[in-house]
Amino acid sequence: MRPPIDGGTILITGASSGIGEALAEQLAPRARTLVLVARRAERLEALAERLERRHEGLSVQVQACDLLDRAAVDDMLEHVSQDAGPVDVLVNNAGFGDMGVFDRSDWDKQQRMIDLNVTALAYLTRRFVPAMIERGRGGILNISSGFGLQFMPGFATYVGTKHFVTGFTESLRTELRSQGVVVTQVCPGPVATEFNDTLGNFTGREPPGFVQLTAEQCARACIRALDRDRALVVPGAAMKVVTWMGSLTPRWLLRWIYGPVGKKMRALQRRD
Ligand code: NDP
Repeated sequence: MRPPIDGGTILITGASSGIGEALAEQLAPRARTLVLVARRAERLEALAERLERRHEGLSVQVQACDLLDRAAVDDMLEHVSQDAGPVDVLVNNAGFGDMGVFDRSDWDKQQRMIDLNVTALAYLTRRFVPAMIERGRGGILNISSGFGLQFMPGFATYVGTKHFVTGFTESLRTELRSQGVVVTQVCPGPVATEFNDTLGNFTGREPPGFVQLTAEQCARACIRALDRDRALVVPGAAMKVVTWMGSLTPRWLLRWIYGPVGKKMRALQRRD
């Protein structure tokens, strides 16, 4: 089964930076219409102008919208339906993380993370899938995370939201298999984007360079995965190995390894 990317209408959430912006850049030569969604309108406008100038025949619609605001989302969906018509491919990419032990976290930030990474993703999928089934074709690309496959101290809420994405997407894929809708998820390791600014990394340590990807590399792997109707892809050779080793490691051993890491994380945060 092939997702209707070529000549299709593709809606990308979180298109104002990082992986979402790179996805827009790389899908632009193939799509007929791109719908770019995020809060920062000026970034989206600049991207839209650049893409329309570069790709003749491409129409780019900017939808500045806070995905945490249900009324604004409904309004945005109404505009998309009127101005761009049916959406062939939905890319659920908008999301953010937070670092720190859960009991010391800022609850409002945790709530916003759950609302964006989980609720907005599920709600948009719920709104678009019925029409895709009716047309007998469509594509859903969900950007999960390596943390959707692993647990990790210092990221409890983020890990929880991405486990939702992983389980949700796997289940949805099996439901939509017979309906002509391709459902793919990508679980990246570290990618150099603004994600790291929102994360609040207080450890002073960065992930090792060999596992880190650029947003462009990650976007390329995402599109390849969707094109090939893959269920779940981990981009980058190094992260593939790390994920594979993680999946072979017994859970009791991971708990034993991560126990001291959690303790260290708490100590570092106290000093912060
Ligand atoms: P960025 O911070 O660069 O991009 C996040 C995007 O989400 C921005 O376009 C931002 O736009 C948008 N966004 C945030 N809040 C809202 C909101 N309330 N409403 C609408 N849009 C919103 O990060 P990445 O590109 O790295 O992240 C993309 C996805 O990749 C996320 O789901 C993340 O969890 C996942 N991921 C990232 C990894 C990494 O290391 N970078 C690793 C694994 C997964 P704006 O601020 O304009 O609203």
